[in-house]
Amino acid sequence: MNLNSSTKCRFCGFLTTPITDGGFKLHKCQNCGLIFKDQIDFLNPSLEMKRYNQHSIDPDDGYLKSINDFISFAIVPFPEIKTILDYGCGRIGYLGSRLSDIGYQVSEYDLYYQQNQLVLENQYDLVCTVEVIEHFHNPKVEFARLCQLVKTNGYLAIKTQFVPIEFKNWWYIRDTTHYSFFSNQTFVYIAATYGLKIVLNDHIQTIVYQKK
Ligand SMILES: [Zn+2]
Repeated sequence: MNLNSSTKCRFCGFLTTPITDGGFKLHKCQNCGLIFKDQIDFLNPSLEMKRYNQHSIDPDDGYLKSINDFISFAIVPFPEIKTILDYGCGRIGYLGSRLSDIGYQVSEYDLYYQQNQLVLENQYDLVCTVEVIEHFHNPKVEFARLCQLVKTNGYLAIKTQFVPIEFKNWWYIRDTTHYSFFSNQTFVYIAATYGLKIVLNDHIQTIVYQKK
């Protein structure tokens, strides 16, 4: 396979440059900056499920702190938020229970653990994805869906590790269920493409958009 000429960006369709890191073949888009694994490295659903089932259901203090920090940084500053969809809530749904405890009206969706299609027919003041978008096979389809789920003037809050400037041997690549890697350039592309305004950005792991 000639990776130089055949692989178009899975997000924006533009040309990509091949890279290798951590033993994986990757493609970096010259337009939106998305870095993505080759399809050859996608796990099938049963292998993905097996991998996710290995995640601890008894989260450690570090995980709990990271969730609480996300709530304080990305959700609490917007007082108009009442309804929230936790998209990709995972097996334990800790974020959802914390948000319910502090008074939000929470719905949950997960491809493997909470396949409630009805919640995808509503719109929400906030849709949040915490450590989810790096698992996307097809970010174009997924982002169109995420934006559809947000009410006009509502918010989309994302936590993922942004592609670092020093990319070599990046640990995030090595998780076999991580396929799509987003940089600041990609997040700017997302804003321009989907009619979103960036309202919060720590440029490391958390970004919040408002839908216009
Ligand atoms: Zn692209």
